[in-house]
Amino acid sequence: MNANLFSRLFDDLDDADRLAIETPGGRRITYGDLIAFSGRLANVLAARGVKPGDRVAVQVEKSVPNLALYLATVRAAAVYLPLNPAYTLNELDYFITDAEPALVVCDPSKADGLAAIAAKVGARVETLDAGGKGSLAEAAMAAQPEFDTVTRANDDLAAILYTSGTTGRSKGAMLTHDNLASNASSLVDCWRFTDQDVLIHALPIYHTHGLFVASNVTLLARASMIFLPKFDPGLVIELMTRATVLMGVPTFYIRLLQNPALMHESTSRMRLFISGSAPLLADTHREWSARTGHAVLERYGMTETGMNTSNPYDGDRVPGAVGPALPGVSVRVTDPETGTELPRETIGMIEVRGPNVFKGYWRMPEKTAAEFRPDGFFITGDLGEMDERDYVHILGRGTDLVITGGLNVYPKEVESEIDALPGVVESAVIGVSHPDFGEGVTALVVRDKDAAVTEADVLDALKDRLAKFKRPKRVIFVDELPRNTMGKVQKNILRDTYADLYRRNWPAQP
Ligand code: AMP
Repeated sequence: MNANLFSRLFDDLDDADRLAIETPGGRRITYGDLIAFSGRLANVLAARGVKPGDRVAVQVEKSVPNLALYLATVRAAAVYLPLNPAYTLNELDYFITDAEPALVVCDPSKADGLAAIAAKVGARVETLDAGGKGSLAEAAMAAQPEFDTVTRANDDLAAILYTSGTTGRSKGAMLTHDNLASNASSLVDCWRFTDQDVLIHALPIYHTHGLFVASNVTLLARASMIFLPKFDPGLVIELMTRATVLMGVPTFYIRLLQNPALMHESTSRMRLFISGSAPLLADTHREWSARTGHAVLERYGMTETGMNTSNPYDGDRVPGAVGPALPGVSVRVTDPETGTELPRETIGMIEVRGPNVFKGYWRMPEKTAAEFRPDGFFITGDLGEMDERDYVHILGRGTDLVITGGLNVYPKEVESEIDALPGVVESAVIGVSHPDFGEGVTALVVRDKDAAVTEADVLDALKDRLAKFKRPKRVIFVDELPRNTMGKVQKNILRDTYADLYRRNWPAQP
């Protein structure tokens, strides 16, 4: 059997006229169109000398041509390497030098800047824009649509995705054909996707969420997606009248809740709302249920592993929890120092093993070895616990743990208490260098617009709720928390901004 992801997605397609993608501009792309487009592009890749195993680095805006290029690359047995269109030349230099692609595909406006970088590693540069123009697109139009999908084994590479790298150098996660195909197939089952589904696709496609979870799952189920260039809350609400599923990061749900058009009626045709890539506040979950009658289904995954756990389709979707392990995936919680498995309801390091877990970091064998246990479990770097029903609760990245006076403080525990206070929208708790405690627990808090809550109020309210060592030494009010495009709070930025908080005399916060 050909284990190529492309074959596993499309070999048993029964109806090529079925709709695969719709664009807001009204273009309708059938499965047959998408497969033919990918065939043309795959022929061009082969003609340009791209061989099995070669990397194809792609910095192109989210678009159907870009998605077709992903499929073409996989089909030609090359390795798709998507790059955030926001990356500057300086950043691209690192990724391209590290990955040594055979081909770099970029927007025509970037071609001149990228030429010198590509030349360093002997890569060709081709162009493709979101409208389907550029040298690669032109060559594709002249190429044949038929292409024999190259045979791959389960363990061969299909893609490299660089981790967001908030601590240290960004690492290339090597994902195999089986990693992607097995995860997509398991999610189709768990989330009950069928060919009747219409996904609102508003996520970027340079990240595991929009590229693999959203696109692979939709295509494998023979469903269709409305492919939006970016998230637009008003438009998403309008589309809910003819879609069935939304996949989003928590920020989507927060922004949708701010829109008065979001109501029971506007969501009544929808079947499922899925959230991931960052923690969904329990409050947001509850508010969403109250406003729409739908319980958001939260799941947990990462670049290196695809999806690991999911709240159930049937059964309790618990606010603040990410559900049990997906079928075929093993999750355990261990002592971070010794690796010994811990009992239920004990906080430790989350580790996962399964067909979804990546092959290792690109050209970083030592880093790879350090993050796997001898029995094959991957050390995720996330701290959490498992409850009696095997639902996983995430407490944040291990690197965000605060150690104050020698004691561990889990930011999530403190954040949950602060978030529950009247007048508070959300908070981020970080450790900041402190002359007496090593690190001082520090809370950055976003208040409701008209709320009069003060630093003293917050500290006072926590007195009966948290042990003294867990309570913030300082509470600082901010207008908003810094977030990356996937909605993750960038605690590294906060730590830098407030690095000298306890060495300077910051005024009390009114
Ligand atoms: P990325 O590799 O960019 O997908 O980021 C993966 C990280 O995002 C995980 O290791 C978690 O720290 C975090 N994450 C993903 N999904 C969730 C979730 N549902 N709740 C909390 N954190 C999450």
